[in-house]
Parts: sequence; structure tokens; C-alpha cells
Amino acid sequence: MSALQSISGKSQPAAAYDVVVVGAGFAGMYMLYRLRGLGLSVRVYEQGSGVGGTWYWNRYPGARCDVESMQYSYSFSDELQREWNWSERYAPQPEILKYANHVADRFNLRPDIQFDTRVVSAEFDESASLWSVTTSDGKTVTANYVVLATGCLSNARKPDIKGLDSFKGKVYHTGHWPHEPVDFTGLRVGVIGTGSSSIQSVPVIAEQASHLTVFQRTANFSIPARNAALTEQERQWFRANYPEIRRFAREEARNGIYTEMPDRGALDDGDNERRAKYEARWQYGGLTFMSVYNNLALDKTANDTAADFVREKIAEIVKDTTTAKLLQPNSHPIGTKRICIDTDYFATFNRPNVTLVDIRSNPIEEITDNAVRTKAGDYEIDALVLATGFDAMTGSVAKIDIRGRGGQTLNQKWAEGPRTYLGLMSAGFPNLFVITTRIAPMPDRRKTGATASWIVCATVTSENSITDEC
Ligand SMILES: Cc1cc2nc3c(=O)[nH]c(=O)nc-3n(C[C@H](O)[C@H](O)[C@H](O)COP(=O)(O)OP(=O)(O)OC[C@H]3O[C@@H](n4cnc5c(N)ncnc54)[C@H](O)[C@@H]3O)c2cc1C
Repeated sequence: MSALQSISGKSQPAAAYDVVVVGAGFAGMYMLYRLRGLGLSVRVYEQGSGVGGTWYWNRYPGARCDVESMQYSYSFSDELQREWNWSERYAPQPEILKYANHVADRFNLRPDIQFDTRVVSAEFDESASLWSVTTSDGKTVTANYVVLATGCLSNARKPDIKGLDSFKGKVYHTGHWPHEPVDFTGLRVGVIGTGSSSIQSVPVIAEQASHLTVFQRTANFSIPARNAALTEQERQWFRANYPEIRRFAREEARNGIYTEMPDRGALDDGDNERRAKYEARWQYGGLTFMSVYNNLALDKTANDTAADFVREKIAEIVKDTTTAKLLQPNSHPIGTKRICIDTDYFATFNRPNVTLVDIRSNPIEEITDNAVRTKAGDYEIDALVLATGFDAMTGSVAKIDIRGRGGQTLNQKWAEGPRTYLGLMSAGFPNLFVITTRIAPMPDRRKTGATASWIVCATVTSENSITDEC
């Protein structure tokens, strides 16, 4: 009998578990920790062979977080915060994966996680008020609650390009990268997509490849990361100030990141002063560029001043004027797709072995056995990297056959887009929760009542270089 049934004393059919959690990324691991702390019986199913989710799958060259590591880390255990030493301002993927494994071991999470097991379906039994959860090993278990910690960027999207399967070289997806190192030395490499994963990997691949061709549909805004080793003094500063940093990020920050909140709008300053402020933040680097002023996300004229500044920077860095123009984003206001951060992304296009191809004006027609064929001609390659992002937000949920009251499927319910209460629950699917670590309660959101799903959609689309899902 589950703990919940023994507490309530109700005579219901016994559920195998109080809670089934789907996914062992950061969200699923934390969920397990908390639920176990409540005395509940929990089974976590993870389709990968290890913990870490995003950081288990995204092993492409250059992969790292773009929220600073001292903030992009768990806050639930003060001991954990104090004992883990992040090496760099933005830790690389292997280090974040090591951290996830450390957390799993430190809090003894593994015994309740079943790896290499995909949840295929979840069906609500109305008479018993239980969920029946079926997994890829053909087994079915029952649970009172199901928590989908399936991730918003976990369903790698392979583009539907004619001939892709006929390509003779190796094809890699950034979101499903092999576990063994990939060596591009001496190869002609093509990268399709220019979202965050591409922006991180292109400079690293360019150093190995004999030639790199980057196929761009939409140019993205990117700010220099200014990554560097963290000093012990910097780590100690964070540790000393963690209570306030975490509180601020949760309760006051607009995007969950600790930064100062400006009290001025972009048009309150004259040209020189404004430029100096943008320049200082450009030199500082990172995602806080949008918080130079308080109205960049609210006022298009204000936003234009920041967008123009970044476009000018791109023109300064990239020597070839045609390439620079193509790399300057003009299709959206800055910050309306999540800004990327990079290390030498734009400068990489000054290398003699790197070519940028604009596939908006010159679309890809097909992949042949040895080339990417565009309207204007063939680009011969030996290896292809699909940096084409994810079927974001709902992709991994939609892949599970979820049936609620009256046999209605969640995909039917969400046919016109996800409809939720606070991004957490959907009517007709009792005791089924959707969680994702990208959703943070923000003060203005609580006031407006906007759903969390909407906010998340608005903030992470730069991963969707091909799909532009949201
Ligand atoms: C390259 C990259 C960099 C990022 N950098 C940042 C950053 O700096 N800051 C930030 O805030 N966010 C960042 N993100 C977003 C990141 O996804 C979240 O920060 C966080 O890691 C998500 O955790 P999660 O547990 O919600 O989901 P995930 O880490 O995606 O984990 C979900 C897990 O569920 C599993 N799963 C899915 N469906 C099933 C199923 N049916 N059965 C079994 N298992 C299933 C998946 O295999 C996966 O392991 C980044 C994302 C990417 C791709």
C-alpha cells in the first residue's frame, strides 16, 4: 500500500507508488528528493542511461550553460552549495553532468530511478482514481500521482530535409550527441541552424574542420559570454550572499537571474551615456545585457537602441560586409527570442575556413550523398551537424500517450496549444503535473495571471533555430 493510502485510510485499490516521475533531469531529481522527504513512495523513469537530462544528451563541442554556474545550480541544500566548486563562470557540459551525478550520489537518488526506460503511456482509471503508467520494457505500474519532468528542450528535432538519410558521411544532432569524442579534424563539416547550440559549437568545430559551412535561416542576437575561471574569492562572494541572491532571483528578477534592476529607461539617457552603458555591459558579458534599462522588453523604440548597438558590434567584428549583414538579426526585437551568449562566434566568420550560407534566400533543396544542395549550388561536406533545436516545450509530453477523464488524450486537449492552470495542470487530467525547471514564478506574471507556459515559450525559442516553435 502506498504511503498516501495508509495516511488516508481509504479502501482503494493499492497503487504501486504514490508518485511516478518521468525524467531524471534537474527537475526530476529534485522532485524525487522532495517527494521522498515527504515520506512518499516514488519511482522515476528515465529513458537515458544516466541522470542530468539536458546535460546527459547535449554533449556537443562547446556546450555549456549560459546562466552563470554559481546561479545555475541547486539551491535546496546549503551544504551542496558550499561544497561544490564550479571551475568557470559558465561550466562546460561535462562538469554540469558531473554535478548532476554528484547530486544523485550525495542524496542517494539512484535506487528510485529506473534508467533506460521510456514512459510510453499513462492512463487515468476513473473508478480507482489511479494512473496506470506503461513503460518501454512492457511493464505497467499504478500511481496516485504522475509528475512529468520531461524537460522543455529534450526532444531533439531532426529536420525534414529531402535526402537526409542518403548522406554517406556521419550526421550528428547537437541535442543527441554521441558519448564518445567526435573528431572533425581534416573534415569538411556542415552545420545547419544558428540557434544557441550552433552559436556555442561553431567556434569549436571551426578550429578542427578543414572547412566549415554554416547554414543560417535566422540570425540571432548573441552577447559575448566573457567566460573565465572562477576565483575562490568570487565563489566565496556568492556563498556569503546566497540567501539574498536566491531570493531575488525567485521573487524579483524578470528572468530568474540575479542582476541589478535598473530604474531608468533607454530613452532617459542621451546617446553617449546610453552607448557607454551598453558598452560596459557588452564588456561584462552574459545574459544580463537586457537589464541595462528597464524598458527594453516593453518599448520598441527603446529596444531598437539595444538592437542597433549589437548590430553595430557585429559589423565591427565581422570583416566581410556581406557576411556581417547576414549575421545581423533584423527579424525580431532583441530579447524576444532568448539572447544567446558566445565565445568568438562572430569572429569565427573571419576565418578563411568558414563560410556562411543564407538559406532564407538560398534554401536547402536536399542532402545528397556528399553535399548540402541549395538552390544556388552544392556545398560538399564529409560530416553534417544538425543544430536544429528541439520540439520545444510540449514535444516530450506529446510523445507520451496520456489519457485522462473520459479517455480524452492530452494531445487532443492541447491540439490548439497547451492549456494549463499555472503551467502545472490541465483540467480532465487529475493528479498529473507538468514541471520544468525553466518555469520560475515571477512577480509580474502572478499579477497578470499569464500562464507559465506562455512565458517559457517566449524565452527559449533561440534553441529552435529551424522550428521557431513558439
Ligand atoms: C544546450 C542547453 C543549454 C542550456 N543552458 C541553460 C542555462 O544556462 N540556464 C537555464 O536556465 N537553462 C538552460 N537550458 C535549459 C535546460 O533544459 C534546463 O535548464 C534544465 O536542465 C531542464 O531540466 P529538466 O529536468 O526540466 O529537463 P531535462 O534536463 O530536459 O530532463 C528531462 C529528462 O526527461 C527524460 N524524458 C523525457 N521524456 C521521457 C519519457 N517519456 N520517459 C522517460 N524519460 C523521459 C529525458 O530523457 C530527460 O533526461 C539549456 C538547455 C540546453 C539544451
